[in-house]
Amino acid sequence: MRYARLAAPRSLEIVEVADPSPAPGQVVVEIEACGVGGSDRQAWELGSVFTPAWFGHEWTGRVVALGAGVENRFEGERVVAGTSAPCGHCRACRKGRTDNCETVLRQIVGLDALSAEHGGFATRTVADARRLVPVHDAISFPNAALIEPAAVAAHAVARSGLNIGDVVVVLGSGTVGLLTSELARIGGAAHVVSVDTSAARNELACDLGADAAFSTVSDGLRSWIDDHTGGLGADIVFNCVDVADTLSAGISLVCSGGTIVAVGVGNRIDNLSITSLLAREADFRVSLGYNSSDIDRVQALMRQDRLRVRPLIQRDVPSSLEDLAQVFEIGARHAIGPPKVLIKPNG
Ligand SMILES: [Zn+2]
Repeated sequence: MRYARLAAPRSLEIVEVADPSPAPGQVVVEIEACGVGGSDRQAWELGSVFTPAWFGHEWTGRVVALGAGVENRFEGERVVAGTSAPCGHCRACRKGRTDNCETVLRQIVGLDALSAEHGGFATRTVADARRLVPVHDAISFPNAALIEPAAVAAHAVARSGLNIGDVVVVLGSGTVGLLTSELARIGGAAHVVSVDTSAARNELACDLGADAAFSTVSDGLRSWIDDHTGGLGADIVFNCVDVADTLSAGISLVCSGGTIVAVGVGNRIDNLSITSLLAREADFRVSLGYNSSDIDRVQALMRQDRLRVRPLIQRDVPSSLEDLAQVFEIGARHAIGPPKVLIKPNG
């Protein structure tokens, strides 16, 4: 089997190793598709965000080998990587806060025995059987690779406390931004407006259901929000970009008593003004990753074709394991088209 090894900043090499054997409790998965996410690109740029540097976390594939004691999986099963169910016995679980299970969090950040050792930029990968989630037959493998970022967006919408009829602003129309916009609409938002510097992404946002899109936080955007809220301001602003100062700009768009949600690890909060939050008695919330239930929710919506992920996938781009370095190099070019590039390690 082969995998892409991150050796140093901006340095990838394709390594050939013997096919892995699953340890007790593990399975081997043949990778069908692995999305290139913002944090993967950051890992490539910095040299090591994840260790060991066999990375790629938005993967989907088929189970090809079962370790001893694995009873809930079968060979040929189509799966995605997720998080385990809450452990039920850590301090958070015992307090009833199962969404903040300490064991699940340790897995996500790589400190637990159940943490993923390997990623999906590989022809095959090894995973703990308990972290796998079956993919419904109605969802194709390319679409299944979008389940993970869709779960991130679903988690953010749940964290926002969205109410039916809300007016929502989504800053950034990358993969998570577009999915957040779609899910806010599905969740009952009356109006959704997207903001991205890319005209192509703004067009895509509107195709996927946003009412309007603006290139910056401009007077035009403020007028649009005023027109749709009687001058009160947006109920919820999602920040889905990793550019400085967007959070502060976002707070200026929120109504009194509204909510701004910082989605994901890329948020920069250096210039966050507590005063502007205070003046509005606005809530500032963060959303990190997802829970296992978020994966179930987005699969249900994808099966019904209510959550559309296919338009987010960039077509006709290099997709082999050997092309991964090039995909990272030309990352900026993606802004001219759909945001998600998929690597298909097995062709
Ligand atoms: Zn727990």
